[in-house]
Amino acid sequence: MKVFNFNAGPAVLPAVVMERAQKEFCDYHGSGCGIMEHSHRNKLFDEVLAHANDNIRKILAVPENYDIVYIQGGASLQFAMIPMNLAIPGKPMEFADTGTWSAKAMKEAALFGEVKAIASSKADKYTYIPDVDSMKPSADASFFHITSNNTIYGTQYRKFPESPCPMIADMSSDIMSRRFDVSKFGLIYAGAQKNLGPSGMAVVIIRKDLVDRTPANVPTMLRYATFTENNSLYNTPPTFGIYMLSLVTDWVLEQGGLDAIEKVNDRKAAALYEGIDSSDGFYRSPVRKDSRSRMNVVFRLPTEELEAKFVKESIAAGMIGLKGHRSAGGIRASIYNAMPMEGIERLLSFMADFRKNN
Ligand SMILES: *Cc1c(COP(=O)(O)O)cnc(C)c1O
Repeated sequence: MKVFNFNAGPAVLPAVVMERAQKEFCDYHGSGCGIMEHSHRNKLFDEVLAHANDNIRKILAVPENYDIVYIQGGASLQFAMIPMNLAIPGKPMEFADTGTWSAKAMKEAALFGEVKAIASSKADKYTYIPDVDSMKPSADASFFHITSNNTIYGTQYRKFPESPCPMIADMSSDIMSRRFDVSKFGLIYAGAQKNLGPSGMAVVIIRKDLVDRTPANVPTMLRYATFTENNSLYNTPPTFGIYMLSLVTDWVLEQGGLDAIEKVNDRKAAALYEGIDSSDGFYRSPVRKDSRSRMNVVFRLPTEELEAKFVKESIAAGMIGLKGHRSAGGIRASIYNAMPMEGIERLLSFMADFRKNN
């Protein structure tokens, strides 16, 4: 039986990408060895890197005045690199606190200056995104940071706030899942392991003027300029991850780019929420309707015992990764770009059966 992978990250990758990587694994383009065995300084890898950059630029319509770089350490290192590079002494760093990842970013930023939460849904267990029109970041802040999709609580911004200071977004769990305007942001970052490829690196899209802010005492490997000035090749980059990202982004383009991807994602999420909402209260989404994520669908059952049983039986039915995050409990179905509609259909039919039997 085909297994559908609902893990939150590392997560499902397109089947055709996995097959192509397998084919090329030992012999990349007739070179006699695999891409991860090649030097990061040779022409073959240069082409892979250029191709990944081109694809990202094309898919997200990244303007010319932004650089795209690949940095080890995942999204979590960005929580520290952002304040290290972009905090201006005396100017607060402003955040919208919408979940565990926002809170972690704030904790790191507090090591480098004053942190202000100008919006928060913490008091309501992070069950919604605060009204974006009421978010009023100050022109005098170092930057304003948001988390576009809250992977653990299953909430997602429908539209983005306006910010007079550079707006920064952690888009780890919804980058390339929908259209948005890159030029509204000063910096966008994403751990690759949700929608882009394997774990261990972050894709960072940074407006060129921000690169110059970094104070002199920031170490070389923690400076954005080290990556932008050397095309991510100052040291040995995660070559296999960048290669996989180039294949995943090829796939996104083959699907028809963000227009097409967004439509499919909307359809998948709508079907799943419909299954939850039409279950006479057996399944229940804790998330306010206007904030529901199309990437991480979180729901509860009447009791924790039933939730445990649901997870156990779903594995037997060919679905893995449905257990909710340990801090939120319940069930979480992560339905990133690479989750096919058949996976949603399998889950819905399992949910209907489980409800009937329990
Ligand atoms: C997964 C995730 C992270 C952490 O990514 P790492 O690569 O493990 O550091 C940060 N932010 C969000 C929104 C995430 O989903």
